[in-house]
Amino acid sequence: MTAVDPTLRATRTTCPYCGVGCGVLATPDSGGGAAIAGDPEHPANFGRLCSKGSALGETLGLGDRLLYPMIRCSKGTMERVAWTDALDHVAHRFAHIAKRDGPDAVAFYLSGQLLTEDYYVANKLMKGFIGSANVDTNSRLCMASSVAGHRRAFGADTVPGCYQDLDEADLLVLIGSNAAWCHPVLFQRMLANKQKRGARIVVIDPRRTDTAGDADLFLGLRPGTDTALFSGLLVHLADTGALDHDYIASHTSGFEAARARARSIAGSVGATALATGLAEPDVADFFQMFRNTPRVVTLYSQGVNQSAQGTDKVNAIINCHLATGRIGKPGASPFSLTGQPNAMGGREVGGLANQLAAHMGFSPPDIDRVRRFWKAPRIATHEGQKAVQMFEAIARGEIKALWVIGTNPAVSLPDADAARASLKKLELFVISENVRSNDTVNAGAHVLLPAQAWGEKSGTVTNSERRISRQRAFLDPPGESKPDWWIVSEVAKRLGFGAAFDFGSAADVFREHAALSAFENEGSRDFDIGALKSLSDEAFEAMAPVQWPTRSGDAEPQQRFFAAGGFFANDHKARFVAPEVPALRTETTAGRPLRLNTGRIRDQWHTMTRTGISPRLGQHLPEPFVEVHPDDALRFAVADGDFARVVTDYGQCILRVVVSERQQRGMLFAPIHWSEANASAARVGALVAPFTDPFSGQPENKATPVSIAPYEYVFRGFALSRAQLELPPHAWWTRVAVTGGYGYLFADNADLAGWQSWLRSVAGSDLAEYKDLGGGVYRAASFAGEHIETCLFVGPARDAGDWDVVKSLFAADALGDDQRRMLLSGKSIDGLASAGPIVCACFGVGRTTILAAIAAGAGSPAEIGVQLKAGTNCGSCIPELKRLIAQTNVVGAAADSGQRQFARVAT
Ligand code: SF4
Repeated sequence: MTAVDPTLRATRTTCPYCGVGCGVLATPDSGGGAAIAGDPEHPANFGRLCSKGSALGETLGLGDRLLYPMIRCSKGTMERVAWTDALDHVAHRFAHIAKRDGPDAVAFYLSGQLLTEDYYVANKLMKGFIGSANVDTNSRLCMASSVAGHRRAFGADTVPGCYQDLDEADLLVLIGSNAAWCHPVLFQRMLANKQKRGARIVVIDPRRTDTAGDADLFLGLRPGTDTALFSGLLVHLADTGALDHDYIASHTSGFEAARARARSIAGSVGATALATGLAEPDVADFFQMFRNTPRVVTLYSQGVNQSAQGTDKVNAIINCHLATGRIGKPGASPFSLTGQPNAMGGREVGGLANQLAAHMGFSPPDIDRVRRFWKAPRIATHEGQKAVQMFEAIARGEIKALWVIGTNPAVSLPDADAARASLKKLELFVISENVRSNDTVNAGAHVLLPAQAWGEKSGTVTNSERRISRQRAFLDPPGESKPDWWIVSEVAKRLGFGAAFDFGSAADVFREHAALSAFENEGSRDFDIGALKSLSDEAFEAMAPVQWPTRSGDAEPQQRFFAAGGFFANDHKARFVAPEVPALRTETTAGRPLRLNTGRIRDQWHTMTRTGISPRLGQHLPEPFVEVHPDDALRFAVADGDFARVVTDYGQCILRVVVSERQQRGMLFAPIHWSEANASAARVGALVAPFTDPFSGQPENKATPVSIAPYEYVFRGFALSRAQLELPPHAWWTRVAVTGGYGYLFADNADLAGWQSWLRSVAGSDLAEYKDLGGGVYRAASFAGEHIETCLFVGPARDAGDWDVVKSLFAADALGDDQRRMLLSGKSIDGLASAGPIVCACFGVGRTTILAAIAAGAGSPAEIGVQLKAGTNCGSCIPELKRLIAQTNVVGAAADSGQRQFARVAT
């Protein structure tokens, strides 16, 4: 494998989104973009990409990029400055505050999007040279409970298995993981195993997600009861003679205490059913499947991790694998799916406040070892503030200087309004970013430093299976943007630590990182990439994906850990952990009678600063929504397609209602992606309780008590424009990327005359207009040459016009006379129905088109694929195609029996 595919002249790099870590071939075009394809040689994806990865080429524009360093001047505005001035200022202010108030008065908040080299340098500066461990990361919100669970059980943060296990397992148990949407390429790999080898799939989740569509068994357990389910499983395994006594005796300790605790939590199938809200036969089925299948992989993700009991949940799962010796063997392991592209790299360097570096902690020998390796003058000797606590310390005025690198905590932290408000208290608030504006930048940053983005920067990332891959630059960095490792190193030099931060390239940083991993290691630590510590620059450039450990002198690569013990505690044994009796931290009340679950959607990533600029990705689910069970919709008088106010003790949002049987009674689901930058009232982080797990510090994002009530709007509408618009402050709105510009979907209660004057203020008075003020309809457009410059459609309820039709006219370079005449009708010129909301992002195939194909006889995704191509590229939409087929069949059957009114087709 070479850095460049000679047949395509494409650069080999790695997708910047999820923890699957797919290899990408990027071929730059002449316009600053790139053609994107999956890398057939990358062992994570073998050429496949999901909808997000496939659309990377649409996300390379410079529209909102931060191109120059900026400092807030005395007038309060941000002014462009030279790099040297910005760096001098940051170093001077950090030094001043650390000297005056001590090193714990400063903090870094990093990101799982950073490259390992960026992470390494920031961690080294704070922990080794400034002398505080106040370095935490948005990975705390993603998989910290897995880290804590691994460390408690294995003595190290080790992922024992690898992706090949997903091909070789006979049973795949997905718990708290909507892999079909969040790890799509891996999910397709699991489905391939099911198809080829007959592997069975069990999905455990309070919500019936698309992942459950292919499950042999779906367990829709009550929120927070995962520990009870796996405690019941441990008891069942013990009571039915399924334990691996040799493995337990030779390689573990603490089994009896764990078994006794499990028995007290869920001592039988019946008790487990009672504790989890599941049907007894379903629990019995699952227990039997697990018991009788030696090759079982249990995959867990945010549904397990994002919990105030997340670490116990992880350990309850691991207990079952240890008790059966099903760990680190082909097709048998517990497996944490990481959410972010480089959460694993961050863990490797110690980018969490409770780690020191290179999988070493704060024990005296580790502190001494790292101190000597770094020649660190004032190494941190105790853990720092974890994410949620870090922002609470800022609010209390204890942390006075913060450097945020590559993340958007004002959106993503729990109790996000409080977190955002805390930022106002900072004496020094520095942000390294790609974009000029986001909620965190707008919260009052004092210094903005332009960082290189994906496609421009160069270094390494590590995926969920411990595989280190290169991200390579294939675009020229715009403006004065710099690599994050360079920016941090320059500040370190100005703080007087030049000798320790004299890095000339990402390769220099990587070599030092690799050397530290091997320093006085000799098998005592899991993370060892000593074989890479002397890579030449050329070898680093050409480096093929490599799984760790990769030690100097290893004869064979090591794919897995722990099949024959060899844990990283002093006695080399794993620990069974007796989990606490599971109980959610908060009760529902009369005022907050439901629980709010939050998560991701298929085609967006985090706070949309990248995916949000792709028109293709904006088509699937363009509006922020809340999913409600039909019974709860009835109970709280909210209707599908209408709006609802969703309120917790921390904040409120107004969201479109999606009524769906997929949602459990008593629970709501809302996606996390929208921010104040792209929606008026959909910053879901503001709703989430800030309770955290006592071991991992990970917040409870899945079960905040919540209420829901209908929210009425008289008018609905949409606007399309070549430039970004500022909608009137009274409107509910959301922005979505469309071909040729920006789309806004909105709702409002103000009168139409107000919208008319607003449009004139943004588009001028030279408008083609259609008014029926009595009927509540106003439509207007301005033109530049032959294309639409700005248009506005407002109407009563759902009669504003056809968004999809007008979008396609807006995308046209030149409108014909007929099209121009028909535009304000808001209907297709040829009278055809629009394709509807896009289901297949790769080929732009809409729901209406797919439903028509199903109605005409297409009975499988393959048949739809033949007719429409939908689902034939990345496969991300296949679960949705199956759902549409199933639902259409239900509708058809219901219609046949005269009960059509009871059958719903959920979005
Ligand atoms: S599954 Fe999709 S988002 Fe994740 S790394 Fe692969 S292409 Fe990127």
